[in-house]
Amino acid sequence: MNLFIALRAAFPADLDSRAIELADGPDTGRFHTWRDLDHASARIANLLDSLGLPPASRVAVQVDKSVEALVLYLAVLRAGHVYLPLNTAYQEAEIAYFIGNAEPAVVVCARRHFTWVSRLAFPLGTRHVFTLDDDRTGTLLERAACHADTHTPVDKADDDLAAILYTSGTTGRSKGAMLSHGNLLSNARTLKDYWGWRPGDVLIHALPVFHVHGLFVATHGAWLNGSPMLWFSRFDPRAVVARLPDATVFMGVPTLYVRMLAEPGLTREACRHMRLFISGSAPLLIETFRDWQARTGHTILERYGMSETVMLTSNPCRPEDGERRGGTVGRPLPGVGLRIHDDQGRPVPPGEIGGIEVRGPNVFVGYWRMPEKTREEFTADGWFRTGDVGRQDADGYVTIVGRSKDLVISGGFNVYPAEVEGYLNELPGVAESAVIGVPHPDFGEGVVAVVVPRAGGEPPDPAALIATLRGRIAAFKVPKQVFIAGELPRNTMGKVQKNLLRERHAACFMNAP
Ligand code: AMP
Repeated sequence: MNLFIALRAAFPADLDSRAIELADGPDTGRFHTWRDLDHASARIANLLDSLGLPPASRVAVQVDKSVEALVLYLAVLRAGHVYLPLNTAYQEAEIAYFIGNAEPAVVVCARRHFTWVSRLAFPLGTRHVFTLDDDRTGTLLERAACHADTHTPVDKADDDLAAILYTSGTTGRSKGAMLSHGNLLSNARTLKDYWGWRPGDVLIHALPVFHVHGLFVATHGAWLNGSPMLWFSRFDPRAVVARLPDATVFMGVPTLYVRMLAEPGLTREACRHMRLFISGSAPLLIETFRDWQARTGHTILERYGMSETVMLTSNPCRPEDGERRGGTVGRPLPGVGLRIHDDQGRPVPPGEIGGIEVRGPNVFVGYWRMPEKTREEFTADGWFRTGDVGRQDADGYVTIVGRSKDLVISGGFNVYPAEVEGYLNELPGVAESAVIGVPHPDFGEGVVAVVVPRAGGEPPDPAALIATLRGRIAAFKVPKQVFIAGELPRNTMGKVQKNLLRERHAACFMNAP
């Protein structure tokens, strides 16, 4: 089924009620009704139809966050094309790669980028470049305004493509994960049920809309439940905290929680109507989990997923399903198969570390135009290798220990960065840390830690940190060097960019004795 048809069917009966309320910017307080979403997406879908594009053309979109960008997503689904959202941080060389690789028939960009985008897109086969800005201007809406506000959605099979998401590429070249209508819809339905979406829910949307978290998990959840959203075009912790009393559900990456904790306005009273705080996309520090509980009385629900699979595991929402366990990402979602295997493809016993493999109706179709890469990432019996390393306890809870590509092999011993970070983060004066491996003349790789000191205190002494760790963990895991830094480099989704740290400290052992 076309995902749009399922989402549209869930719109509430009162189409004139509020679907999205703008919570910041010059139009604060203005809202879009469900009818507006329906009509505006029909207009853009009719515009796309009028262009005579081949079925399932890619529509690449790099625009600032706006409700209109979301409407464009609906329109692309409706017209049966494939939505290709691009991170607003990407620069010219990166966009050239995506356009060359995906060959979109249509590109939509911000007006300020039109000149260079069209210069590179047309020679690569793109037929139309439209503009869309976050103040509702640009050629896309101008052209769409001439079209009718009704449109019959194109029929789609479950395995037809709905979107291509380029992986965030903290290392190596980005790959385009092809997601089908069935992948997205099955996952959205599972989450609607598992997270107990109910009448009266209001979602605070403060995430970017080029990533699985803000584009799929958040919006599909609200739409399938016919729930309104409070819409922030950018995350401002104070402004979001101020609107918590009007909402029931919030989704954020861990950094958003850390920044909200720094707001004096974050109190139990401010959260009195909140039902659920959800975190994902990067590991939530246990300290943030506990501080949030103490300040607000709410236990953050941490879940785990990726572009290739949408959501995989979640801590329970309802008490009868179990406790929300900090430091874990919960259990596999209903319908999702998850297993932990070692390097030889053998299952490891409960509680032991290995590679996380998954299967289910949510698992993507493959990497766009990379059949080899796709084959490599699936096992012979059809499970997808996530590349994440973790363990599953006997009662099903999964803990992520790191990415397999982040694994450090020092003197032949495997060191899981997340484990060492866990120990470091508990030491006095340490706010957070990142552990990496860099070339070492003796050990192949040497373990290095980058430590961010706690605000307001004396920065910890690297030699003292190393000495304390020596008494707690195996010597081969103890960092040989500790660097103090003001902050860790992160991408927009809050993931630590370890590749940058590895580059920065690449030579630190090269003169070692
Ligand atoms: P992306 O495809 O950009 O969403 O990145 C997916 C990756 O983010 C996963 O493979 C994990 O490495 C990481 N990730 C997502 N959620 C979590 C989480 N709750 N805890 C730890 N890592 C996570």
